Amino acid sequence: MLQLVSMGLLTVLFALLIHRALERRVIAREEEHQRLTNKLEASRRESISMEEDNSSLGRILGQATALYDITKDICKTLDKEEIFNIFREHVNSYIDLGDCRYIEEMKDTGEYRDHTILPLLINKHNIGYLVAKGIRAEDKDKFNILAGQFILGMKRALLYEKIQELSIIDSLTDVFNRRYFLQRFREEIARSEKFQYKFSFVMVDVDHFKKYNDYYGHLVGDAILRDIAAILKENLRQIDFIGRYGGEEFSLILTETDKEQAKFATERIRRAVESRLIRAYDEDLKVTISQGVSVFPDNAEDAQALIEGADKAMYTAKDLGRNKVCIYGESCAG
Ligand code: GH3
Ligand code: MG
Ligand code: MG
Repeated sequence: MLQLVSMGLLTVLFALLIHRALERRVIAREEEHQRLTNKLEASRRESISMEEDNSSLGRILGQATALYDITKDICKTLDKEEIFNIFREHVNSYIDLGDCRYIEEMKDTGEYRDHTILPLLINKHNIGYLVAKGIRAEDKDKFNILAGQFILGMKRALLYEKIQELSIIDSLTDVFNRRYFLQRFREEIARSEKFQYKFSFVMVDVDHFKKYNDYYGHLVGDAILRDIAAILKENLRQIDFIGRYGGEEFSLILTETDKEQAKFATERIRRAVESRLIRAYDEDLKVTISQGVSVFPDNAEDAQALIEGADKAMYTAKDLGRNKVCIYGESCAG
């Protein structure tokens, strides 16, 4: 009986041990499974993050290239319209864009209800708006970044405009530029009107200049223009004004100078140019000029009419064979 009981106990014990062993194996397998699952998850996470890294690197690189390209092209010009065209071309190659415009002043925003409107600010000062239609939500950041380059380009263009406005001297010839000359011209009309002075306005044009350019090249042409300007300076008084009116045209204001005095001064200038051997690079050149004169207030009292009068007289000088001075409405000399 005792034997039977101990046999039974042993069997139960044995069964328990087997159960325990099986249980431990199950647990071990479960643990192994979990461990492997974790490992898998870890590697999945790693590959996801690598993918993210790669794509964000790609995104960043893509944008960097886009920025480099757009900046490089925008830097080539200081013209506002051209800057916008370059910007639009670049944007179109990176993102799918419908209508895109640059507007300096926006009166009615209603017109652009279904557009993205980007105000362009330079030092808190509004220089206009970029309006674009059809930008997808995911492209907005890219659009804004590229728009930043457009703003930088516009900043340079506006700065250049301001510099141009402020500058009064023609960089090639060192005389007043046309804009400033015309300003002084109007001031001189007002001054002469007030004090009842006469003054003479002269148009100077280099004879056959195109031939010099074509034969010797533009650099020699430029050197000739510099020399002519220098001769004009040498032969005028401090109180006179010299301007570069156009390519090879100069304009002069001979203050407090009537017709007879103007004839004298312009003839002196004509001779000075005619007799000068202009040394340009390796060339020694002879150049002549034609001049047309109008007198305030004898011929006209406003700038436009005085310019037209002198221009007409200058063309008469050309017709008569060049290297001459003509006074508006009179005979010519030279
Ligand atoms: P004309 O005696 O009838 O005045 O003949 P022209 O050849 O002087 O006149 P035209 O108007 O045919 O030519 C003027 C030339 O001046 C053409 C243009 O290329 C040249 N020009 C204008 N600005 C500049 C400049 O800044 N530098 C140089 N080198 N050439 C210039
Ligand atoms: Mg000309
Ligand atoms: Mg000419």
